[in-house]
Amino acid sequence: MSMQFTLSTPEMAESAEEKVYDLIIIGSGPAGLSAAVYAGRAHLDTLVVTGNELGGQIATTSEVENYPAFPEGLKGPELAERLQKHAERFGAMVQMDNITAVDLGKRPFTLTGYSGQYRTRALIIATGASPRKLGVPGEAEFTGRGVSYCATCDGWFFQDKEVVVVGGGDSALEEAIFLTKYASKVTVIHRRDELRAGPTLQKRARENGKIDFIWDTVVDEIQGDSTVQSVKLRNVKSGETSEMATDGAFVFTGHIPNTELFAGQLAMDERGYLEADARQRTEVPGVWVAGEAGDPHFRQAITSAGMGAAAAIEAQRWLDAQEK
Ligand code: NAP
Repeated sequence: MSMQFTLSTPEMAESAEEKVYDLIIIGSGPAGLSAAVYAGRAHLDTLVVTGNELGGQIATTSEVENYPAFPEGLKGPELAERLQKHAERFGAMVQMDNITAVDLGKRPFTLTGYSGQYRTRALIIATGASPRKLGVPGEAEFTGRGVSYCATCDGWFFQDKEVVVVGGGDSALEEAIFLTKYASKVTVIHRRDELRAGPTLQKRARENGKIDFIWDTVVDEIQGDSTVQSVKLRNVKSGETSEMATDGAFVFTGHIPNTELFAGQLAMDERGYLEADARQRTEVPGVWVAGEAGDPHFRQAITSAGMGAAAAIEAQRWLDAQEK
């Protein structure tokens, strides 16, 4: 993948910091990169700052089956790469960096990243969301040593092993099905007796001979020595507790929007989702939000991509109006 890295000499860094982009997009998931396709095509001088991972959550998704125009489905990382290529084809630049501070108080807006400062006339926030943690003892300790939030990244390590998947939504079932490629057995542990996931994934998971379900149950603790060896379970109806041996625990319990960066500068709801109008505008002129950072309702790659396109069209119109 062709990433741009920040210039290293002081003179060059200074000139990079003096530059004012037409548009900076924070985030490189379907929202951010779709915005970049539209912005590049509108000849805006556009920079995408990737965040931790090019592609955002889609890069950690095993199989994307419902992105229109891909009837056979495609791997999440491939979708991310295609989006990046598409954005770059129209001149958008993609920079690997993490933004750690923003000043939306005056224009041009100033963003601070690990690699330096950036200035921009307009800003699209497409920072997405991160996996929600269980918050139980052992979870942090064993992350990367049996606890995972990404089946695509870590499934391979569990060849012929037994794993548990926590959660009952689309992600839990989709990733449980993916994990059966490697694991000998996958047990889905859900806190209710009814799945949140849609009917298609439910059917596929229930029909998969390697997948079992444990209902009405939560994980209270993850235990092990150097790696995960067991989970402590509690039935929420009976209160009964038990211990289950397992080699790994995959957690898919929903997401938290990545919006802390904007606290005190932009309005957000009590869960942290940024507030925007039907045209993706925040209350600060020149700042739009696209994708999961502002969307608690749909949270699909395609809806995020649509919001990204809409935000970029709005940004272009707004920048044109500023010039007149
Ligand atoms: P989600 O729909 O919010 O589901 C989260 C699941 O985790 C729920 O079953 C929830 O239980 C459970 N949960 C939450 N906190 C928990 C805790 N502390 N302990 C135990 N369980 C907990 O999240 P998601 O599955 O990541 O999906 C997010 C969005 O992406 C959804 O809109 C989904 O439709 C979409 N998505 C779509 C696809 C697809 O269409 N192929 C694939 C993946 C994701 P409750 O059910 O009891 O609340």
